[in-house]
Amino acid sequence: MKYRHLGKAGIKLSALSLGAWVTYGGQVGQEIAEKCMLAAYNAGVNFFDNAEAYADGNAEIVMGNVIKKLAWRREDLVVSTKIFWGGKGPNDRGLSHKHIIEGVNNALRRLQMDYVDLVFCHRPDPETPIEETVRAMDVIIKQGKAFYWGTSEWSAGEILKADGIARQYGLTPPSMEQPQYNMFHRNIFEIEYDPIFKQLGYGTTIWSPLASGVLSGKYANGIPAGSRAALPGFDWLQEHQITAERIEKVKHLSVIAADLGCTMSQLALAWCLKNPNVSTVITGASRPEQVEENMKAIDFEDKLTPEVMEKIELVLDNKPERYVA
Ligand code: NDP
Repeated sequence: MKYRHLGKAGIKLSALSLGAWVTYGGQVGQEIAEKCMLAAYNAGVNFFDNAEAYADGNAEIVMGNVIKKLAWRREDLVVSTKIFWGGKGPNDRGLSHKHIIEGVNNALRRLQMDYVDLVFCHRPDPETPIEETVRAMDVIIKQGKAFYWGTSEWSAGEILKADGIARQYGLTPPSMEQPQYNMFHRNIFEIEYDPIFKQLGYGTTIWSPLASGVLSGKYANGIPAGSRAALPGFDWLQEHQITAERIEKVKHLSVIAADLGCTMSQLALAWCLKNPNVSTVITGASRPEQVEENMKAIDFEDKLTPEVMEKIELVLDNKPERYVA
């Protein structure tokens, strides 16, 4: 495993990490979660991502139970949660001072931890002034309940505003963003976020590196039973992610992967790792074999030479254009 700084922050995260979305406490229970987490840990993963929203808090319970059972040293781990969707009540969601404090306290109880390393605002909240959110996050940091706070799916403008407010009032500025980034979803990361990388030294923990599994190639001939797209409530995946155009591109990319001696998943993950603004690639898995396969992507980062990257670019045909005035 390789370890990368979270942007300009001192903390180091494994370049590949593991998240709990969809799977823990829902699609899979504690036994499979434990096997997946152990496979990741044995491959050198130190960062495990979670959120109060995942399986209505059950994902945090599962992850906390596994960490306790395996008696991992807290210092060896980087654990996150994300706050926004904490329940059904009017004050259980959003980024108010009240929900941030209560949401973090509830997450810590479920995780059975005194602190998380990273806490994210899971989405921007247009109903709460950014200053209120920045002040609440500063309280969380000062209380030692989290070491770094950040954003998820915020615009560059919102991030710059939060940073400006923090600096104006001597509060803790945000350090990292959790955006979607993969071969099919590039524009925001590669263009819009330029200033937050250059001006703020922001770190990133990117999500859905396989576009929910589409970039594994598993959907080339339909929807396999037991896959994410076959889960109840995931019809949107079939409609929006598994398009004929994407399946065709994956077929061509699979040839490049075969030439390199890696799987399609490993190629897609290694491609994300090539971007220097990626601090960690959060992988997802519903079984330990997927974790074992995905972790080997680390060996292929260096095999993606400029020539190979160019071949990939030709297939993807979606390089974001920079606007030049
Ligand atoms: P991916 O795009 O990598 O999708 C992971 C899924 O793809 C797995 O659950 C599995 O699904 C399938 N898969 C993974 N590896 C393989 C493989 N080698 N071969 C075949 N199928 C494979 O990542 P996620 O969408 O899960 O996102 C990763 C993490 O990012 C989440 O767990 C979460 O922590 C975070 N996240 C954050 C969001 C945010 O808003 N901040 C939003 C979404 C995710 P299956 O076997 O069921 O088909």
